[in-house]
Order: sequence, then structure tokens, then C-alpha cells
Amino acid sequence: MLTKPHLQLNRATDITSELLQKMNITCLILDVDNTLCLKKGKIILDGVKAWIEKMQKAGIKLIILSNAKKNRMDGIAKGFGLPFVALGLKPLTLGYKRAAKRMGENIKNCAIVGDQLLTDILGGNLAGCKTILVCPVELETSFGFKIKRGIERKLLKKYNMKFDF
Ligand SMILES: [Mg+2]
Repeated sequence: MLTKPHLQLNRATDITSELLQKMNITCLILDVDNTLCLKKGKIILDGVKAWIEKMQKAGIKLIILSNAKKNRMDGIAKGFGLPFVALGLKPLTLGYKRAAKRMGENIKNCAIVGDQLLTDILGGNLAGCKTILVCPVELETSFGFKIKRGIERKLLKKYNMKFDF
């Protein structure tokens, strides 16, 4: 089940260093849109900055992986003070591997944190890292996204999981 996440949480900020320790995770590869922020990075979700600081203090490495272009990611990543890999082409595995290498980590000790089964989670499982699904904060309105979210709902049901809205 390549689209099944290892773990599902409501928000990225629900991730604790204790939980990561138990899962042998030392590095988080973070999706941005609907995971850390909204409106293409204009709105940062509550508590995200404090959570990033807490993770870093606990020795967890963090890097952003996005399919967005470098121009857009530059500003967003700077706002978080985090390194990033742009044009990640998720669900291809290249970006995940690049992110792990950049942080000097074995991919097995990394976890992707993202809101989409068909990109974030599928790619993470293919790349061989742990996968943590978070609930999208806001549902997209585009036709393409409606189809994607419909497929995700069916898959989640199969895994006895669901998005809470
Ligand atoms: Mg996303």
C-alpha cells in the first residue's frame, strides 16, 4: 500500500520529539501548502514557528520539500528559517533523496510530513522514508483537487483513516 501513511495526525504541530524518537526519525521533510501554511505561503498556521523552534531544540533536522518553483519557495523558506528543495516533483523520489542528502541523513531516518496521499505520502513511501499524513487545513476548490481529494477519501476509508473537517 504505497499510499498508506505510517501515521496520521491532525496537524504538523502535533508531532513531538518523543514520538519521532520512538519512530527512529531524526529529520523531517516538510510539505508547505496546507501543511505549514495557507494561501501560497501568505498565512502561516498557528503555532508552526514555535513548533519548528521546539523541534530544532530537540535536535530534529528540518527541511522543506515542495513542488513549487524556487522563486516562491525562497521567500517562504526564509520566513521559516529553513533550507528547502524546490521543484520537488513529488511523488517522484528524487526530491526526497536530495533533501535527505542535503541534511546528511539516511532516508530511513527521515519522515515526510504532508497533506496529500498521492504526492507527499506516495513519494515518501517510494523513497523509503517514514510518512506522516496531516489533515489539510483548507479544502481546495479547483476541479483537479476535488478529484484528488475524492480519491484520497476512498483510500483513507480503506485504511480506516479519515480527514477530520
Ligand atoms: Mg500540501
